Amino acid sequence: MKLKRRFESFICEVCGFENDPLSTGTRNHCQECLASLHVDEETPGDRESTCQGVMIPVSVREDSKKGWIITHRCRACKKRIENHISDDDNFDSLVLVAEGRWEDSFLRRGGA
Ligand SMILES: [Zn+2]
Ligand SMILES: [Zn+2]
Repeated sequence: MKLKRRFESFICEVCGFENDPLSTGTRNHCQECLASLHVDEETPGDRESTCQGVMIPVSVREDSKKGWIITHRCRACKKRIENHISDDDNFDSLVLVAEGRWEDSFLRRGGA
């Protein structure tokens, strides 16, 4: 049997937003709060990781060749993964990441 990659909608574990699947490529983070899940091990979309931890956006930067890049850090294993930003990502959330205020805004203090 051949493995087929499917683009499925997912409910964000951080903010509860229901994300529609991207028609082009893999949506690997929430378009509303930008949080992600640790499902990829080596390359985006490989779905090889068994960690499944929540990945939070820790920084954004502009790459002259690739465009805007967001760095996620896994809260469970601390792994960092870089991702491209999607056109429909929430700009206000991007600003919160850039200003270092994302965690205060989306994670309850002292919470999980
Ligand atoms: Zn979210
Ligand atoms: Zn992890």
